[in-house]
Amino acid sequence: MNIRTLQHIIPSIATADGGGVKLRRSLGQNQAHRVDPFLMLDEFSSANADDYIAGFPEHPHRGFETITYMLDGHMLHQDHLGNRGDLKSGGAQWMTAGRGIIHSEMPQQESGRMRGFQLWVNLPAKEKMKPARYQDIQPEAMPWLTLADGGSVKIIAGNAEFAGQLHAGPIQGISADALFLDVRLPAGSHFELPLTSDYNAFVYPYEGQALIGPQLAAQPLASQQAGVLSLGDQLEIWADQPVAFLLLAGRPIGEAIVQHGPFVMNTQAEIQQAIADYKAGRLV
Ligand code: FE
Repeated sequence: MNIRTLQHIIPSIATADGGGVKLRRSLGQNQAHRVDPFLMLDEFSSANADDYIAGFPEHPHRGFETITYMLDGHMLHQDHLGNRGDLKSGGAQWMTAGRGIIHSEMPQQESGRMRGFQLWVNLPAKEKMKPARYQDIQPEAMPWLTLADGGSVKIIAGNAEFAGQLHAGPIQGISADALFLDVRLPAGSHFELPLTSDYNAFVYPYEGQALIGPQLAAQPLASQQAGVLSLGDQLEIWADQPVAFLLLAGRPIGEAIVQHGPFVMNTQAEIQQAIADYKAGRLV
């Protein structure tokens, strides 16, 4: 058994995007801060509607997939395909931009608070131009599972094995086979999970601190930081205080990445094509 260790840390930075939504960006803050196949992770969290109410008005994407996961508040979205959805607290949305999507994402407050995450997952070259699609996942489709060693886990995407039993999340079929978990542990508990040994993975605590690695050599990872893990077939996390974290793992794509804002392709020529297509009204 090869237990994964904390390899390096990507602290999040405060920034703003869309119509001026204040957020914290770990992966994706620059080109060096990615974890193939993951391009970007944003955390938006505010009790002040002025921080987010302008939302993300109509904008395009090409070449990757997104998962948006809401903890509090909700998000209205609509796109050029005619999809309209209301992403609720505890729910998620999976979008494949593929060759192109034009959409808006407008956060709504609920009792003043709005909190959630958006993850960007790359597509391999051969799938970047596939048709766009959207899927909303209601909170009821993502039940909290109780863990034997204390704590609970919500599987948002992929499959995970706990105490020898395999559980399937509601989002299946992300091209990079992404696993996306929300894990909450009480102080003194322990989390373990088998992982595909050559998949890249990172942990993002959003409350409290996680201790990562073999028990006697576990390394602390504070909240609002992405902790990138070494390769290995087993993940071990210890809680010396209550902690809530996201866990992401996925199959690396290993291709060149050229990004221009909302377009993520393999070459500069493909980026120029995406910009030209968008200007000419033929992105989608
Ligand atoms: Fe978007």
